[in-house]
Amino acid sequence: MHNAAFAALGLNWRYLAFEVDPKQLRAAIAGAQAMKFTGLNLTVPHKLLAVDMVDALDESAKVWGAVNTIRFEGRTTQSDWLPLREFNHCVPVETRTQGFNTDAAGLAASLREDLNFDLQGKKVLLLGAGGAGRTAALKLASENVLELFLVNRTFSKTLELQVEITRNFPSVYVGLGYPKTEVDLVINATSLGLKSGDASPLDEKEFSLKQTRAVYDMIYRPAETTLLKAAKAAGCKTANGLGMLLHQGAKAFEIWTGQPAPLDVMRRALEQNVYGH
Ligand code: NAP
Repeated sequence: MHNAAFAALGLNWRYLAFEVDPKQLRAAIAGAQAMKFTGLNLTVPHKLLAVDMVDALDESAKVWGAVNTIRFEGRTTQSDWLPLREFNHCVPVETRTQGFNTDAAGLAASLREDLNFDLQGKKVLLLGAGGAGRTAALKLASENVLELFLVNRTFSKTLELQVEITRNFPSVYVGLGYPKTEVDLVINATSLGLKSGDASPLDEKEFSLKQTRAVYDMIYRPAETTLLKAAKAAGCKTANGLGMLLHQGAKAFEIWTGQPAPLDVMRRALEQNVYGH
């Protein structure tokens, strides 16, 4: 999606994928900086490790405690830090890395666009408390959901998350386990559903799909997980995680280029690459 967007904007840039051993992450970031890369995206398991490896953290990375986007910046003779792309005709005094996080904003944008869902005052059941689940929970709380119910295979993680949310967002009620009442939205942030034949992450003996209006699955491949199939059959509004992937990418694009992301071009390229049509 990034290469399609660069082409659409006439930028002679390339987005490339590299597999990096976590032990080599610091060296890989320093290498990209030495080679005057414009920026980087990081994925699991690098997002948490990178927090201690960048020179500066944008507010988004501080709040969510993870870095998925890095921008390389240069210092001018007036001591201002500017994106490296702005140093066309002069050499920076020194360079640095700044870390950002675009995942949370990507999720909120996708919920709005794909489910027409506004989080404020809503009741949400969130499945999963790994990296994506934690970021989602904090984002939902920061957007003033009314009640948030956390379910995870490893119970202790939901307990830790409850403490963190209650400390930072005291007005949000955080329940552990399945709610007895109805909710407005169920979000799957577990990796259960990625493999064909995976069961649904929702225990329907504990919580019926009749108890929710909408279901969002962060998984986008397969396009329809067991959970989404069941949710559709139960009459819920559904969306998969492709929109989240699109919007976190679009935000990163804007951080690197300083230009609005061509969303339609990026969406078409994503669908082509992920689903082949
Ligand atoms: P992670 O940190 O490894 O967390 C995995 C989560 O899934 C944990 O909550 C884990 O529970 C749970 N889980 C794994 N196997 C399970 C099983 N057999 N039964 C029940 N729960 C299970 O991964 P992550 O980064 O949070 O990613 C989670 C999912 O979100 C993945 O499917 C990923 O593809 C998706 N995602 C999508 C986007 C997007 O842009 N659409 C972005 C980020 C992530 P435990 O804590 O008990 O291990």
